[in-house]
Amino acid sequence: MQAKRADSAPATDDQATNTPDSAKGPLESICLSCGKRLPAIQRACPDCPSALLRADYPVKPFQPTNHPGIFRFADFLPPTGTHDTKIGPCVYRSDALAAKLGLANLHIAYNGYAPEKGAWNLTASFKDFEALPTLLFLREHGINAVSLASAGNTARAFAYAGALLGFNVHIVIPEALLPRLWIPTPTKPALALDCVHVTAVADSRDYFKAIELNQLIVREFGLTDEGGARNIARRDGMGTAVLEHARLTGELPRHYFQAVGSGTGGIAAWEASLRLIATGEFGAGVPQLHLAQNAPFAPIHDAWTHGKTIHPNADIDDQLRRIDEISAAVLANRNPPYGLVGGVRDALHETDGRTYAVSNAEAAFAQAMFEEAEGIPIGPEAGVALGALRQALEHNALDPNESILLHVTGGGESLLRRDYDLMQLEPTLRIAPKKVTPARPRPPPRPLPSLAQLSTSAARPGDEPAQATAKS
Ligand SMILES: [Zn+2]
Repeated sequence: MQAKRADSAPATDDQATNTPDSAKGPLESICLSCGKRLPAIQRACPDCPSALLRADYPVKPFQPTNHPGIFRFADFLPPTGTHDTKIGPCVYRSDALAAKLGLANLHIAYNGYAPEKGAWNLTASFKDFEALPTLLFLREHGINAVSLASAGNTARAFAYAGALLGFNVHIVIPEALLPRLWIPTPTKPALALDCVHVTAVADSRDYFKAIELNQLIVREFGLTDEGGARNIARRDGMGTAVLEHARLTGELPRHYFQAVGSGTGGIAAWEASLRLIATGEFGAGVPQLHLAQNAPFAPIHDAWTHGKTIHPNADIDDQLRRIDEISAAVLANRNPPYGLVGGVRDALHETDGRTYAVSNAEAAFAQAMFEEAEGIPIGPEAGVALGALRQALEHNALDPNESILLHVTGGGESLLRRDYDLMQLEPTLRIAPKKVTPARPRPPPRPLPSLAQLSTSAARPGDEPAQATAKS
């Protein structure tokens, strides 16, 4: 398939080279509960299953390199090597939207696709920042296949990165969400499309069902789970939006606005800020997190602002009904890493954070306002983020003279379609589980049982899907 504008479109978005950076030593993580140091490839502390690990990069002056994309921040990314790509954070100072909102110092992190602004995320969302560092880091540890569940944008990012790097990516996605699973097909470099494997959960629209099936596949077939919030490469990739703001302005923003599903982007922004503060060059104040969700499905907002407990498996039909109502479908996560040590609650607590519930109408209004002012489109999730900023201003929750970073986490799909042919990814398997449960632990080798015996083999009841955890 040919790129639509091979002459002027960014056909050479990536160079398929992997440049080792010998200055980096073996990376360790620190358990945020007990302080134990662990190899950075590990996803959880053996003693503290409810705590996140955080990568412990050497403290040195903040010195972005001249890489064109995300790997200009290789000092704060887990892989030793880098990849020459234009995919990377795009931050610019806003004039028009700032004027409309009455703000004196607004920066926009536009992490979709808008070459006019210098934004080259080829799957139109900031998930591209997670996929490349994750796959490179896994490869450096001898792992060449990864499995993940996704509701759309994460799958696109990992599928594209896998095809780019020749890294096997196995995606589990609810069948109803398959239309969101596409990737662009640039003329250069050649993509290894046979590295992308898709399993659809038949007749399902439930992301959580895909998570359960993926966890079962990972456990039973010995694959490596992508890891979700526990994957430091994902968090630190997302945190590069804050690093780019610091590179351009020499400062941390006072306020950070983002729409969240899992809330991991909020954790990432907080952690990136702590790393910059540790250099001694950025003062001591962390940005205040302003995390937005799309009403009527806003479990993080309900937990932080209204004190409600998050129950991913309670009244699932009602949760799915509310998920169906929201326009920013990528924000629907029933089981965010809220209460983990170092998780969303801690990030909000440590930054004096606020949360928001933004209606579809508010998000749509904000989307139109952004496009009119800035001349580029944003996705509904970014409309939710801007809707939250408007709510904060209406309620005098911030000083309009203070510095604000608005993270547009997705947008520009129409521009991507203008410049590229997009390839719809089709499932290689359709699985129709009534209930996703593991069978009994594998018994020791013995003669094959009879069919009658097989039919009485019971599944283990009540096995709750765990948070994504490390494979030992
Ligand atoms: Zn620990």
